[in-house]
Amino acid sequence: NAVQPRRSIQPLPDELISQIAAGEVVERPASVVRELIDNALDAGAREVVVRLAGGGVRLVAVEDDGCGIPRHELPLALQRHATSKIRDLAELEAVATMGFRGEALAAIASVAELTLTSRSADAADGCAWALQTSSGELRPAARPPGTTVEVRELFFRTPARRKFLKSEATELAHCVEAVRRHALARPDVGFAVWHEGRLLHRWPAAQALTPELAWQRRVADALGEEFLTATLPVEAAAGPLRLRGRIVRPDAAGGRGERQFAYVNGRFVRDRVIAHAVRCAYDDVLHGQRQPSYVLWLELDPRTVDVNVHPTKIEVRFRDSGAVHQAVQHALEAALARPRAGVALSAPR
Ligand code: ADP
Ligand code: MG
Repeated sequence: NAVQPRRSIQPLPDELISQIAAGEVVERPASVVRELIDNALDAGAREVVVRLAGGGVRLVAVEDDGCGIPRHELPLALQRHATSKIRDLAELEAVATMGFRGEALAAIASVAELTLTSRSADAADGCAWALQTSSGELRPAARPPGTTVEVRELFFRTPARRKFLKSEATELAHCVEAVRRHALARPDVGFAVWHEGRLLHRWPAAQALTPELAWQRRVADALGEEFLTATLPVEAAAGPLRLRGRIVRPDAAGGRGERQFAYVNGRFVRDRVIAHAVRCAYDDVLHGQRQPSYVLWLELDPRTVDVNVHPTKIEVRFRDSGAVHQAVQHALEAALARPRAGVALSAPR
């Protein structure tokens, strides 16, 4: 075995750095959907329209009516580690926006064709501008204030990754699920999903409803009336922690298609503390069951949650996970013990 001659240390080229980073953030078309909707919500959008083609591999386009990006900042939006959302460590530790790493657009642009079209709400010229990343071309465009990001031919430059994609139907289902997760976090925002010119889902923004009814309406729209009637409301506050949600009635549990959605400060998370607290709460009422269905929205002081654990931010770390566990378990036990725990509800139209 010949010893390889030592190779000198070299900084990686910028594009390769982005492609490596993209490996962590962009796994499949649904990751693009998630990142682009995060950005739309951070921009204050009231309406988000998602257009897909080829299961999202050929096209993911997300259009919003948010604050937009001024012309001179368009190139910055695509630059790695450039963000409008945080400025220093103190802001990172109290971050309330979905994004803050300044990575997503740069990462996506390194593994797909990306076009960013935006009109800043306060643009003096009243004009929209479109930046095409592969050519670097910036040209005037026409659109109302807001932003559209179009991502075409995902992984066309990294065929090894493209091979890992599943069938069009599977990728499409993941894309729709990504929109549904956001929709369940924000009943005040309207969402629409199109695939190849066909409207798959439209979840309109809650109009003039009480917050509780708005949540109910969105749950019924995004998960079906059956989900709403099979679940009980949960509402609790423990110090700075607020919790609301819907959890499955014990007598309605055990069917197929169990669904779990947990949110921390508006962010969809997969969290063991929450999942475990739910299982504990059901311990006495469900036997030998898989995880029961639930949608839980937790709100707590952002300084007590670390969201910078994973590039996709799907994992969080609580400063006081014991308190979170206890609050969730108690709130669910109280809801399950309520005498009306068997009464079905239907959503107002
Ligand atoms: P991050 O969201 O972590 O800041 P991104 O790469 O996703 O990083 O976006 C970079 C920047 O581009 C954002 O900080 C924001 O200023 C701007 N931006 C991206 N998408 C939008 C959008 N839909 N509307 C307005 N600004 C946007
Ligand atoms: Mg972002």
